[in-house]
Amino acid sequence: MKVKLISSTPNPELTIARAARLCYRRSYDEDMTLEKAQKLIQEIVARGHESVLEHASFTFLIEGISRAASHQLVRHRLASYSQQSQRYIHFKNPEFVIPPSIKENETLFDHFQEQIQKSSDMYQEMIKMGIAEEDARYILPQAITSQIILTANAREYLHILKLRLCSRAQWEIRMIATAILKILKELAPIIFENAGPPCATGICPEGDKGCGHPWSKR
Ligand SMILES: Cc1cc2nc3c(=O)[nH]c(=O)nc-3n(C[C@H](O)[C@H](O)[C@H](O)COP(=O)(O)OP(=O)(O)OC[C@H]3O[C@@H](n4cnc5c(N)ncnc54)[C@H](O)[C@@H]3O)c2cc1C
Repeated sequence: MKVKLISSTPNPELTIARAARLCYRRSYDEDMTLEKAQKLIQEIVARGHESVLEHASFTFLIEGISRAASHQLVRHRLASYSQQSQRYIHFKNPEFVIPPSIKENETLFDHFQEQIQKSSDMYQEMIKMGIAEEDARYILPQAITSQIILTANAREYLHILKLRLCSRAQWEIRMIATAILKILKELAPIIFENAGPPCATGICPEGDKGCGHPWSKR
Protein backbone atom coordinates (compact mmCIF):
# COMPACT_ATOMS: atom_id res chain seq x y z
CA MET A 1 0.00 0.00 0.00
CA LYS A 2 1.30 3.45 -0.92
CA VAL A 3 -0.04 6.85 0.09
CA LYS A 4 1.18 9.78 -1.98
CA LEU A 5 0.23 13.45 -1.81
CA ILE A 6 -0.70 14.65 -5.29
CA SER A 7 -1.86 18.18 -4.55
CA SER A 8 -2.73 20.56 -1.75
CA THR A 9 -3.63 24.14 -0.94
CA PRO A 10 -0.45 26.23 -1.03
CA ASN A 11 0.46 27.68 2.40
CA PRO A 12 -2.41 25.83 4.10
CA GLU A 13 -1.82 27.28 7.56
CA LEU A 14 -1.52 30.90 6.41
CA THR A 15 -4.65 30.45 4.27
CA ILE A 16 -6.59 29.21 7.28
CA ALA A 17 -5.20 31.78 9.71
CA ARG A 18 -5.95 34.67 7.33
CA ALA A 19 -9.50 33.40 6.90
CA ALA A 20 -9.90 33.18 10.67
CA ARG A 21 -8.47 36.70 11.13
CA LEU A 22 -10.92 38.12 8.59
CA CYS A 23 -13.78 37.19 10.93
CA TYR A 24 -12.53 39.81 13.40
CA ARG A 25 -11.12 42.55 11.11
CA ARG A 26 -12.32 45.08 8.57
CA SER A 27 -9.87 43.92 5.90
CA TYR A 28 -7.94 40.85 4.78
CA ASP A 29 -4.52 40.54 6.46
CA GLU A 30 -2.25 39.70 3.54
CA ASP A 31 0.90 40.28 5.59
CA MET A 32 0.24 37.88 8.44
CA THR A 33 3.37 36.00 9.46
CA LEU A 34 3.57 32.28 10.15
CA GLU A 35 4.34 33.01 13.84
CA LYS A 36 1.08 34.96 14.22
CA ALA A 37 -0.74 32.29 12.23
CA GLN A 38 0.52 29.58 14.58
CA LYS A 39 -0.95 31.24 17.68
CA LEU A 40 -4.22 31.95 15.92
CA ILE A 41 -4.63 28.38 14.62
CA GLN A 42 -3.93 26.93 18.07
CA GLU A 43 -6.64 29.22 19.50
CA ILE A 44 -9.08 28.32 16.72
CA VAL A 45 -8.65 24.59 17.24
CA ALA A 46 -8.89 24.96 21.04
CA ARG A 47 -12.07 27.05 20.72
CA GLY A 48 -13.71 24.70 18.22
CA HIS A 49 -13.93 27.38 15.49
CA GLU A 50 -13.24 24.56 13.07
CA SER A 51 -15.08 25.79 9.96
CA VAL A 52 -12.03 27.89 9.00
CA LEU A 53 -10.05 24.66 8.67
CA GLU A 54 -12.14 23.92 5.59
CA HIS A 55 -10.14 26.44 3.53
CA ALA A 56 -7.20 24.06 3.06
CA SER A 57 -7.53 20.77 1.26
CA PHE A 58 -5.22 17.89 0.46
CA THR A 59 -5.42 15.23 -2.25
CA PHE A 60 -3.86 11.79 -1.88
CA LEU A 61 -3.39 8.89 -4.27
CA ILE A 62 -3.73 5.62 -2.38
CA GLU A 63 -2.40 2.60 -4.27
CA GLY A 64 -2.69 -1.03 -3.29
CA ILE A 65 -5.57 -0.53 -0.86
CA SER A 66 -7.89 -3.53 -0.52
CA ARG A 67 -11.54 -3.13 -1.41
CA ALA A 68 -12.23 -4.10 2.24
CA ALA A 69 -10.38 -0.97 3.40
CA SER A 70 -11.51 1.37 0.62
CA HIS A 71 -15.12 0.57 1.52
CA GLN A 72 -14.43 1.87 5.02
CA LEU A 73 -12.68 4.95 3.72
CA VAL A 74 -15.53 6.02 1.46
CA ARG A 75 -17.92 6.02 4.42
CA HIS A 76 -16.43 9.44 5.21
CA ARG A 77 -19.03 11.50 3.41
CA LEU A 78 -17.38 14.90 3.57
CA ALA A 79 -14.42 13.76 1.47
CA SER A 80 -14.33 13.27 -2.32
CA TYR A 81 -13.17 10.13 -4.11
CA SER A 82 -12.30 8.72 -7.51
CA GLN A 83 -11.72 4.97 -7.54
CA GLN A 84 -10.66 2.50 -10.23
CA SER A 85 -13.79 1.00 -11.70
CA GLN A 86 -14.35 -2.75 -11.61
CA ARG A 87 -16.98 -2.22 -14.31
CA TYR A 88 -14.71 -0.69 -16.91
CA ILE A 89 -11.34 -2.28 -16.10
CA HIS A 90 -10.47 -5.91 -16.80
CA PHE A 91 -8.05 -6.89 -14.01
CA LYS A 92 -5.73 -9.21 -15.90
CA ASN A 93 -3.24 -9.70 -13.07
CA PRO A 94 -5.10 -8.72 -9.93
CA GLU A 95 -3.15 -8.21 -6.71
CA PHE A 96 -4.45 -8.95 -3.25
CA VAL A 97 -3.87 -7.68 0.28
CA ILE A 98 -3.30 -10.48 2.77
CA PRO A 99 -3.79 -9.58 6.44
CA PRO A 100 -0.71 -10.17 8.68
CA SER A 101 -2.72 -12.54 10.92
CA ILE A 102 -3.18 -14.83 7.90
CA LYS A 103 0.35 -14.38 6.55
CA GLU A 104 1.91 -15.53 9.80
CA ASN A 105 -0.01 -18.82 9.78
CA GLU A 106 1.67 -20.89 7.07
CA THR A 107 -1.10 -23.45 6.53
CA LEU A 108 -3.82 -20.83 6.54
CA PHE A 109 -1.77 -18.60 4.24
CA ASP A 110 -1.48 -21.38 1.62
CA HIS A 111 -5.18 -22.14 1.83
CA PHE A 112 -6.05 -18.44 1.58
CA GLN A 113 -3.91 -18.04 -1.52
CA GLU A 114 -5.49 -21.12 -3.12
CA GLN A 115 -8.97 -19.71 -2.64
CA ILE A 116 -7.93 -16.33 -4.02
CA GLN A 117 -6.38 -18.02 -7.04
CA LYS A 118 -9.60 -19.96 -7.67
CA SER A 119 -11.70 -16.78 -7.56
CA SER A 120 -9.23 -15.02 -9.79
CA ASP A 121 -9.18 -17.91 -12.32
CA MET A 122 -12.97 -18.01 -12.46
CA TYR A 123 -13.06 -14.23 -13.00
CA GLN A 124 -10.72 -14.57 -16.02
CA GLU A 125 -12.74 -17.53 -17.30
CA MET A 126 -16.01 -15.60 -17.15
CA ILE A 127 -14.49 -12.66 -19.04
CA LYS A 128 -13.28 -15.10 -21.73
CA MET A 129 -16.86 -16.44 -21.93
CA GLY A 130 -18.07 -12.91 -22.69
CA ILE A 131 -19.43 -12.04 -19.25
CA ALA A 132 -19.09 -8.30 -18.66
CA GLU A 133 -16.52 -7.11 -16.09
CA GLU A 134 -19.33 -5.61 -14.03
CA ASP A 135 -20.78 -9.10 -13.52
CA ALA A 136 -17.58 -11.18 -13.49
CA ARG A 137 -16.26 -9.02 -10.60
CA TYR A 138 -18.84 -10.53 -8.25
CA ILE A 139 -16.47 -13.48 -7.77
CA LEU A 140 -13.54 -11.27 -6.72
CA PRO A 141 -12.65 -11.19 -3.01
CA GLN A 142 -12.55 -8.00 -0.94
CA ALA A 143 -8.80 -8.55 -0.68
CA ILE A 144 -8.33 -7.32 -4.27
CA THR A 145 -6.33 -4.12 -4.47
CA SER A 146 -7.58 -0.85 -5.85
CA GLN A 147 -6.39 2.70 -6.41
CA ILE A 148 -8.30 5.62 -5.06
CA ILE A 149 -7.87 9.38 -4.98
CA LEU A 150 -9.01 11.08 -1.81
CA THR A 151 -9.57 14.81 -1.38
CA ALA A 152 -10.71 16.40 1.84
CA ASN A 153 -10.21 19.56 3.83
CA ALA A 154 -8.22 19.84 7.04
CA ARG A 155 -11.33 19.71 9.23
CA GLU A 156 -12.44 16.41 7.70
CA TYR A 157 -8.91 14.95 7.95
CA LEU A 158 -8.88 15.74 11.68
CA HIS A 159 -12.16 13.83 11.93
CA ILE A 160 -10.96 10.88 9.82
CA LEU A 161 -7.73 10.66 11.82
CA LYS A 162 -9.64 10.79 15.11
CA LEU A 163 -11.62 7.70 14.11
CA ARG A 164 -9.11 5.78 12.03
CA LEU A 165 -5.97 6.09 14.17
CA CYS A 166 -7.80 4.58 17.13
CA SER A 167 -6.57 1.07 18.01
CA ARG A 168 -10.16 -0.11 17.59
CA ALA A 169 -10.08 0.84 13.89
CA GLN A 170 -9.21 -1.91 11.40
CA TRP A 171 -5.43 -2.42 10.82
CA GLU A 172 -5.34 -1.53 7.10
CA ILE A 173 -7.28 1.71 7.36
CA ARG A 174 -5.18 2.53 10.44
CA MET A 175 -2.05 2.08 8.31
CA ILE A 176 -3.48 4.44 5.70
CA ALA A 177 -4.43 7.00 8.36
CA THR A 178 -0.91 6.77 9.81
CA ALA A 179 0.64 7.45 6.38
CA ILE A 180 -1.74 10.37 5.76
CA LEU A 181 -0.96 11.88 9.17
CA LYS A 182 2.79 11.70 8.51
CA ILE A 183 2.39 13.74 5.31
CA LEU A 184 -0.13 16.19 6.79
CA LYS A 185 2.18 16.85 9.74
CA GLU A 186 4.92 17.88 7.33
CA LEU A 187 2.59 20.21 5.41
CA ALA A 188 0.61 21.68 8.27
CA PRO A 189 2.30 20.87 11.59
CA ILE A 190 0.26 23.35 13.63
CA ILE A 191 -3.13 22.12 12.44
CA PHE A 192 -2.27 18.45 12.83
CA GLU A 193 -0.20 18.79 16.01
CA ASN A 194 -2.81 17.06 18.15
CA ALA A 195 -4.46 14.96 15.43
CA GLY A 196 -5.35 11.47 16.56
CA PRO A 197 -7.92 9.60 18.61
CA PRO A 198 -9.44 11.31 21.67
CA CYS A 199 -7.16 9.32 24.03
CA ALA A 200 -4.13 11.18 22.60
CA THR A 201 -5.20 14.36 24.40
CA GLY A 202 -8.08 13.34 26.64
CA ILE A 203 -10.41 10.55 27.57
CA CYS A 204 -11.25 7.46 25.47
CA PRO A 205 -14.96 7.52 24.57
CA GLU A 206 -15.01 3.74 24.05
CA GLY A 207 -15.58 3.02 27.75
CA ASP A 208 -15.08 -0.66 28.61
CA LYS A 209 -14.51 -1.40 24.90
CA GLY A 210 -11.36 0.74 24.95
CA CYS A 211 -7.98 -0.87 24.22
CA GLY A 212 -6.37 0.36 27.44
CA HIS A 213 -3.28 1.62 25.58
CA PRO A 214 -3.56 5.36 24.81
CA TRP A 215 -2.36 6.24 21.33
CA SER A 216 0.93 8.05 21.34
CA LYS A 217 1.77 10.91 18.96
CA ARG A 218 4.40 10.22 16.36
C1 LIG B 1 -13.93 1.54 14.76
C2 LIG B 1 -15.03 1.72 13.77
C3 LIG B 1 -15.97 0.73 13.60
C4 LIG B 1 -17.02 0.88 12.69
N1 LIG B 1 -17.95 -0.12 12.53
C5 LIG B 1 -18.98 0.03 11.67
C6 LIG B 1 -19.98 -0.99 11.51
O1 LIG B 1 -19.93 -2.03 12.14
N2 LIG B 1 -20.99 -0.78 10.62
C7 LIG B 1 -21.10 0.39 9.89
O2 LIG B 1 -22.04 0.55 9.12
N3 LIG B 1 -20.16 1.37 10.02
C8 LIG B 1 -19.13 1.21 10.88
N4 LIG B 1 -18.18 2.21 10.98
C9 LIG B 1 -18.29 3.40 10.13
C10 LIG B 1 -18.95 4.57 10.89
O3 LIG B 1 -20.26 4.26 11.28
C11 LIG B 1 -18.98 5.83 10.01
O4 LIG B 1 -19.80 5.59 8.87
C12 LIG B 1 -17.62 6.24 9.52
O5 LIG B 1 -16.68 6.19 10.55
C13 LIG B 1 -17.71 7.69 8.99
O6 LIG B 1 -17.80 8.54 10.11
P1 LIG B 1 -18.70 9.83 10.18
O7 LIG B 1 -20.07 9.56 9.72
O8 LIG B 1 -18.53 10.46 11.53
O9 LIG B 1 -17.85 10.75 9.23
P2 LIG B 1 -18.07 11.59 7.91
O10 LIG B 1 -19.01 10.96 6.95
O11 LIG B 1 -16.68 11.81 7.49
O12 LIG B 1 -18.73 12.91 8.41
C14 LIG B 1 -18.04 13.83 9.24
C15 LIG B 1 -19.02 14.45 10.22
O13 LIG B 1 -19.96 15.24 9.49
C16 LIG B 1 -21.24 15.15 10.08
N5 LIG B 1 -22.17 14.53 9.12
C17 LIG B 1 -21.83 13.94 7.93
N6 LIG B 1 -22.95 13.54 7.29
C18 LIG B 1 -23.97 13.84 8.09
C19 LIG B 1 -25.37 13.67 7.99
N7 LIG B 1 -25.95 13.09 6.95
N8 LIG B 1 -26.15 14.13 8.99
C20 LIG B 1 -25.61 14.74 10.07
N9 LIG B 1 -24.28 14.93 10.25
C21 LIG B 1 -23.48 14.50 9.26
C22 LIG B 1 -21.08 14.28 11.33
O14 LIG B 1 -20.80 15.13 12.42
C23 LIG B 1 -19.87 13.44 11.01
O15 LIG B 1 -19.19 12.95 12.16
C24 LIG B 1 -17.12 2.07 11.90
C25 LIG B 1 -16.15 3.07 12.07
C26 LIG B 1 -15.12 2.92 12.98
C27 LIG B 1 -14.11 4.01 13.13
